[in-house]
Amino acid sequence: MRVFFIGFGQAGGKIVDMFIDQDKKAPVRSFRGIAVNTARTDLMGLKNIELRDRILIGQTVVKGHGVGTDNVTGAKITADEIDSIINTIDSRGTHDIDAFIVVAGLGGGTGSGGSPVLCRHLKRIYREPVYAVGILPAPEEGRLYSYNAARSLSTLVNEADNTFIFDNSAWKNEGESVKSAYERLNDEIVRRFGVLFRAGEVGRSGVGEMVVDSSEVINTLRGGGVSSVGYAISDKVTQSVKQKKGLLGGLSVKKKENTEEVLTGEDKSAKIIGLVRRAMLGRLTLPCDYTTAERALVLIAGPPGEMDRKGVEKSKSWVEENIAGVEVRGGDYPLESSKVAAVVVLATIGDAPRIRELLEIAKETKEDVIKSKERRVTMFDDGEGIDPLFE
Ligand code: GDP
Repeated sequence: MRVFFIGFGQAGGKIVDMFIDQDKKAPVRSFRGIAVNTARTDLMGLKNIELRDRILIGQTVVKGHGVGTDNVTGAKITADEIDSIINTIDSRGTHDIDAFIVVAGLGGGTGSGGSPVLCRHLKRIYREPVYAVGILPAPEEGRLYSYNAARSLSTLVNEADNTFIFDNSAWKNEGESVKSAYERLNDEIVRRFGVLFRAGEVGRSGVGEMVVDSSEVINTLRGGGVSSVGYAISDKVTQSVKQKKGLLGGLSVKKKENTEEVLTGEDKSAKIIGLVRRAMLGRLTLPCDYTTAERALVLIAGPPGEMDRKGVEKSKSWVEENIAGVEVRGGDYPLESSKVAAVVVLATIGDAPRIRELLEIAKETKEDVIKSKERRVTMFDDGEGIDPLFE
């Protein structure tokens, strides 16, 4: 797929910066990306997005210092300056892209408020689908982050054509702070979504046996709502040897370099089925009840000699037996790599405990805010009859 990424806010900018870095190392360029922020320092910290593609908005309001956690201001500034964002997107060229992907942390201010506004405008202006990758905050970040994320997500699902969720709290380790985990988490995000969003692009390794083209990704995501992604990677070195930091996550080949294996057809297909099962039953970007997914996409990426039509077909049937819907698409995607990776997209999920929890926290927070406002209003009732110092 050819993708136009827009990284909104700090998290969004950093993650898109990493997608661009990954793309630079790929045999074919599939990604284009810009970053939008109200905080100048966040934009300056990026490494791979060109300077002219970093857009500072809200200068007259927040003077380049960011909106803090005020996502309402984030949304307002974005709406006020949408023309300059769209102009930059237009000037980078959109005629050859298959989809827009807006990436943002939903618990903060700029990305949380701005991303739903941008999705709405992109959808109005362009024919290509607009997807979001939304990062959920960890509970330790406090109720305001949860409240922001719930409001942002409830809006986003109506503005984007589909929203992929990555839940920070499900991915950080016990005892680890979210901040110290960012780099590792971003690596996980870019690795999974990199394989998915590059589906259908023809690399040096040629065309797959069962090519997944961008229309199949788009059809899988047609139902809207939120989606979750599973991923698993094989640990055997099988074919190519001289690996640089590969697309499947820089899993460099050391001593095992010469352990070439010749797998029979049966072995290959069993290996693929095993990987797909691990991908779907292991840790998902958004932990959820996979039996409620309406559609799915199974993607196998790896060295051409490891691809196996029967394995892909059997995996698709297995996924179909386990999800609510019957539409399971899939295929393979040859890649210069020493490992095989499986990506399973569980599209349009019906139930995810973390989202329920966020919505619940948001409801309670709103009620608490209303109560404290009422208390504040009535606090001075007893002072009736006391003359103010001046009128
Ligand atoms: P914004 O700049 O106002 O949009 O807000 P941030 O992007 O700084 O933060 C919003 C949310 O994203 C918070 O819940 C953060 O924990 C999370 N976040 C910030 N930076 C990163 C990052 O690099 N990776 C991940 N996974 N999450 C991040």
